[in-house]
Amino acid sequence: MALEDFAAEMDRCSQCSYCKWIPFDQVKSWRFAKNCPSIAYHNFNSYSARGRYAVARSLIKGQSGYSDTVRKIVFTCMTCGSCDVSCKVCRYNLEPLEMARELKFRLVEDGQGLDEHQAIIESLNKEHNTLGRPRAERGAWADDLDVPRLYADKAEVLFHAGCRFSYDRELQGVARTAVRLLKQAGVDVGIMGQREMCCGGRVYSMGYRETFTRFAQANLKAWDRAGVKTVVTSCADGYHAFKRLYPKLGSQVEVLHTVEFIARLIKEGQLTFRTAVPLTVTYHDPCHLGRQGEPYVPWEGVEKKIKNQIVVYEPRRPRYNGAWGVYDPPRDILRSIPGVELVEMERIREYSWCCGAGGGVREAYPEFSRWTAGERIEEARATGAEALVSACPWCERNFKDAVKALGDSLQVYDIVELVQKAM
Ligand code: SF4
Ligand code: SF4
Repeated sequence: MALEDFAAEMDRCSQCSYCKWIPFDQVKSWRFAKNCPSIAYHNFNSYSARGRYAVARSLIKGQSGYSDTVRKIVFTCMTCGSCDVSCKVCRYNLEPLEMARELKFRLVEDGQGLDEHQAIIESLNKEHNTLGRPRAERGAWADDLDVPRLYADKAEVLFHAGCRFSYDRELQGVARTAVRLLKQAGVDVGIMGQREMCCGGRVYSMGYRETFTRFAQANLKAWDRAGVKTVVTSCADGYHAFKRLYPKLGSQVEVLHTVEFIARLIKEGQLTFRTAVPLTVTYHDPCHLGRQGEPYVPWEGVEKKIKNQIVVYEPRRPRYNGAWGVYDPPRDILRSIPGVELVEMERIREYSWCCGAGGGVREAYPEFSRWTAGERIEEARATGAEALVSACPWCERNFKDAVKALGDSLQVYDIVELVQKAM
């Protein structure tokens, strides 16, 4: 698509501002009623979905050009998708998240990208990861694991570690535990080791569509060569890329997040816990596993108007409103760990507040990113929980960094770390 394809939407946005809040029937308190970090932090309409529609309309009509302010408005969107869920409660036919992405694509294509993001693209092109780390060190996290490397071997199931788990030493125990669990369950699993490449999902959300496509195609080719039928990952960004974006490029590979796999093992009685973990926890739904973790539904059709007024789609267009994301498996796991008590925050499931690490914001606007994480930490604190648990290394890293910066004592875990403690 092109930005111009959203021209009708830009006019249809009713400027109602519903996209700035979680749906009103979900609000439990004024303190945690907002949903869009970008407008909440910058407190100026242009930084909301509604404002970005207006900015985009002005750009495509030639009424305004590029400036540092326009760049900041566009790239401070975390592409968390919360506006999209709220907008769909009141409007049937708008896709503010897709439009925000398209706006980023346009700026990047026009050479208006950010230097901070360009550095990531250079790292990706040279080292195949987003963290500027040497390609040769990518597989080191699995050095002590007896698991086939699928550039030399074949297996039906691939565990994809992703950039963050591959290089973040403090977190990568999660990837090792996930692979051990798969092996214990008798799964024919392998990894790509040092030849694993970035999924491309994070740079897609920064506006680099061409780079994403290149990496996605390279991954699909490597999977095909290795006979991979299922990909399991513990990274929510990777999950979203594989589940929602790769099928558009022809992927038919089954995609599972580790929490789905572990919840299935527990249900089938293949995984039981022996050790109690006495901890009151609250669970943070990663945007890319929750509201953006809905399965891809192919659609080709046309937009029509009834009586020149009511917009309809023929055939009916899929409506991603976040409700079918991955919400129950992580909660089922937490409830099955002896000693763990799960208490919920006010904004959960498809109405969850972003961790602050998405859309290239962590890299380009670190202060805003930390503030966003801090808001979630405050919400977690309000539940009385001792620990904030998530299922994505980007959320975990952002929360850990923010907790440290705030001098807070809240514990931060990936759900797999609690599983490991309980085994
Ligand atoms: S909720 Fe949707 S229609 Fe209303 S202002 Fe936001 S983007 Fe526009
Ligand atoms: S995607 Fe997230 S940050 Fe961007 S406008 Fe929507 S709610 Fe705000």
